[in-house]
Amino acid sequence: MQRLNEQFIDNQWVPSHGDTRLTIVDPYHETPLGEITRGDPADVNAAVAAARRALPGWRATPAARRGERLSAIAAGLERRRETLATLSSRNNGKPLSEARQDLDDAIDCYRYYAEAAAALGERQGRREDVGQPGLAAYRYWEPVGVAGLITPWNFPLVSSAWKLAPALAAGCTVVFKPTEVVPLPEQVLCEIVLEAGLPPGVFNLLNGDGQGIGAPLSQHPGIDKLSFTGSNPVGEAVMRAAASGVRPVSLELGGKSPIVVTEDADLVLARDLVIAGICYNAGQMCSATSRLIVHERLADRLYAAVDAAMAELQPGDPLAEGTTLGPLVNAAQQKRVSDYLAQAEAEGLHSETPAPPMPERGCFVSPRLYRDVPTTSRLWREEIFGPVLCARRVASDEEAISLANDSDYGLAATVVSGDPDSADAIARRLEAGNIWCNSDQLAPPQGNWGGMKRSGIGRELGQEGLEAYLETKRITRPVPR
Ligand code: NAD
Repeated sequence: MQRLNEQFIDNQWVPSHGDTRLTIVDPYHETPLGEITRGDPADVNAAVAAARRALPGWRATPAARRGERLSAIAAGLERRRETLATLSSRNNGKPLSEARQDLDDAIDCYRYYAEAAAALGERQGRREDVGQPGLAAYRYWEPVGVAGLITPWNFPLVSSAWKLAPALAAGCTVVFKPTEVVPLPEQVLCEIVLEAGLPPGVFNLLNGDGQGIGAPLSQHPGIDKLSFTGSNPVGEAVMRAAASGVRPVSLELGGKSPIVVTEDADLVLARDLVIAGICYNAGQMCSATSRLIVHERLADRLYAAVDAAMAELQPGDPLAEGTTLGPLVNAAQQKRVSDYLAQAEAEGLHSETPAPPMPERGCFVSPRLYRDVPTTSRLWREEIFGPVLCARRVASDEEAISLANDSDYGLAATVVSGDPDSADAIARRLEAGNIWCNSDQLAPPQGNWGGMKRSGIGRELGQEGLEAYLETKRITRPVPR
């Protein structure tokens, strides 16, 4: 039993002011793994004060030195890779192989921003032409200040790396609130930042839920920048809080992403990408391609192939080698997805997917495909966040594009086509921030991540991910002719 009743502030564990505790569960055994404080606004005050005290020193630290600290964090994660992957798998329910992939992605992200920090130092004071003789401008980048970072539960150590690494590289100090549902993996960061030599107050971690920590953190006037990943309703609340004081906000929110399969697509590739897009992490992905839009000539064969592949998944203990489908993250999420299945019944939708042999315990939901779902169905339009795929057949690429774009969301999309040029032409017309053509869902640190429309504001990863924590300053002055 781990007790997360303390907060990490100024490089020390201190008792939380919160007097309520929440239980952390293992969703496979459905047993408690620990408890976590709900947190308290007084914890937020203390952490923000620490981060503000540390800001001048961290901002003045040469960017390349900040980068060295990030490399040390990557090394600390790497040394604990297997232990952390196991812990993450146990707390989140994802298969161990997926948790290992998360660790590799997080490590890559810290390494990438270690280099980006060094490059930031090198570009400071870059001279720019102003179009007038005798005058020149010089460009500088400064950290935006103290960053408040809030993350969800579906990709432990990854969602946090996407925020922490660029924020620290930029010279921001941070108050970071991990999810209360899967909080265990992130706790190790406190040990690692101590080893990596981060000065006190640069990195502060607050345990708690939305009410105890999330809302007071986003409303705190000592926070200069908010970066949030999670659901749309909470994202809107964070954005409203950011309006007070005109503080910049980055939002990574939900999705209802399409996978478009054209008439000439390779059936096996299409099946594999469909399955990966909806069954990886048991469908609990913001970028899950949960709407299959397939050409009518291929539809019946692809539906049959997807049904067969879903039936062959291996649900089971996430830590057992060979498990390909873990439980959902907890009973609440299992109920949420099961409610959508009841909704499907109420709408007269039926799935023909044979259920794979399900374990007797655990928060599992059997994967399923619903064929030819009406566009008015709640299942077609709303984010389900489970292994539930809705499909429709179309008569042309034109119809596929229009159907794919008929969504409030615009996070991601996949195109599967036998012709690379037509895949590219379709991708160019889709309204989404990340599109993969005949490819798995890759999200390397040098790329960008973020959505159009209601899927969010701003981009993480890559250079844009760093800019999100920087202010630009331009100084114009006379120079010798
Ligand atoms: P959530 O919105 O319930 O919680 C996210 C975080 O916000 C948690 O840490 C939570 O404690 C905190 N929070 C809750 N109420 C708050 C409040 N009032 N103010 C501030 N913080 C508050 O989301 P979740 O259930 O943890 O995650 C699932 C959602 O996250 C899905 O909608 C998914 O699409 C989205 N998501 C998006 C991305 C992306 O990159 N776009 C990535 C992962 C998850």
